[in-house]
Amino acid sequence: MGTRGREIVGAGAKEIVDLLNKALADEWLAYYQYWVGALVAKGPMRPNVQAELTEHANDELKHAGMLAERIIQLGGTPILNPSQWAKLSGCGYDEPKDPHTLKLLEQNIKGEQCAIVTYNTILKKVMVEKDPITFNLVRKILEDEVEHEQDLQDLEEDIKLR
Ligand code: FE
Ligand code: FE
Ligand code: MG
Repeated sequence: MGTRGREIVGAGAKEIVDLLNKALADEWLAYYQYWVGALVAKGPMRPNVQAELTEHANDELKHAGMLAERIIQLGGTPILNPSQWAKLSGCGYDEPKDPHTLKLLEQNIKGEQCAIVTYNTILKKVMVEKDPITFNLVRKILEDEVEHEQDLQDLEEDIKLR
């Protein structure tokens, strides 16, 4: 029960918890979109795309864990019901109906770009609320999302150069 740890964050904690829960919903949907995308992928550079999507799925799951842990430290409750994911999510879910590798990359790039904007916004908010722990955590996640976007765009570029 980190009572003093919570105390140093102060009144903004509730608002931060809500933002982190929204991001948690995004992460679960991103995880599934990558996970199932890797399974159904077809077309150019299939093994490379599958490997990258699987790697990113694992990263998104790790992000979900980091967010949930911080939510609990702040006295909140991480989303308990998956039915909330689509409702709370800011970036939403892009169903990979077309399994073509280029289409999957395009959908996931869109998702990463949304995640980058979302985490950048949260970062600015926690800077104002003076919560250095959440700041550091969100900064780490943002770093991963920037790398994700780059990796996917590199693959997209390579496929288009074939
Ligand atoms: Fe993520
Ligand atoms: Fe990502
Ligand atoms: Mg990668």
